[in-house]
Amino acid sequence: MAERKPDWLKVKAFGGNNFNDVSALLKDLGLNTVCQAANCPNRGECFNRRTATFLIMGPVCCRNCRFCNIDTGRPEPLNDEEPERVALAAERLKLRHVVVTSVTRDDLPDGGAAHFAETVRRIRRRLPECKIELLTPDFRDVPDALDIVMAAEPDIFNHNLETVPRLYPKVRPGADYNRSLKLLKRAYDKFKAVTKSGLMVGVGEERDELRQVFADLAEHHVSILTIGQYLAPSPKHLPVARFVPPDEFKEYADEAKKAGLKKVFSAPLVRSSYMADVVFSQ
Ligand code: SF4
Repeated sequence: MAERKPDWLKVKAFGGNNFNDVSALLKDLGLNTVCQAANCPNRGECFNRRTATFLIMGPVCCRNCRFCNIDTGRPEPLNDEEPERVALAAERLKLRHVVVTSVTRDDLPDGGAAHFAETVRRIRRRLPECKIELLTPDFRDVPDALDIVMAAEPDIFNHNLETVPRLYPKVRPGADYNRSLKLLKRAYDKFKAVTKSGLMVGVGEERDELRQVFADLAEHHVSILTIGQYLAPSPKHLPVARFVPPDEFKEYADEAKKAGLKKVFSAPLVRSSYMADVVFSQ
């Protein structure tokens, strides 16, 4: 069990005009965000920058990852109006870079791929210049899911590895490290997509294991990587094994770049979608 949360992970209380505006807009349009569902510590900062990461296909996930704050259970049917509502919110927020993610929908025949694609198309119709980043699940048993998603031509295809392969059974039991790597590779090989992935550290990984993940990502043509500290959402979740000091995050960034990743954003409070516009345009 890790020690008490260190100062570098403390954030200011949420508030401010933009924060309130964004929260009200999301509520008005009946939209979910991963910012709220995952209880993200950056909410104050991101909402005040008038950005948020939309969580589509409902607030209930089919899988039971031990690090995640999103509810697990039987998800509800898809809401056909949701893609347009996401587009409307993006337009009202005047976003130049939208990040859309979802819960894992292993219950749907296409894993939710068509809903992702429709969301991209609706956003593009309202905001043709906007960059669109999709952060998708692994679409477990659906061979065509990636093709359906990529037909809508998102600008960035993001899929998180989250942790080192040894810890998958403990951290994300429904997932498979090699399946995730293959998905990223296929997005690059077949669709020439800009691909991105994310890791959380402090769950018990060893330094050498991380280095191997950097090498695997580079070998699978991933060009953008985010690395941040894992924070346990509650005492029932996977406990934090270690709080990684800020300087070590800088070392990770250097090592990942040395391995061949082009853009690496590594700091304690970095999340997969944190400052996604800045990371992309670096
Ligand atoms: S880092 Fe991502 S999930 Fe967290 S508040 Fe910002 S946009 Fe939302």
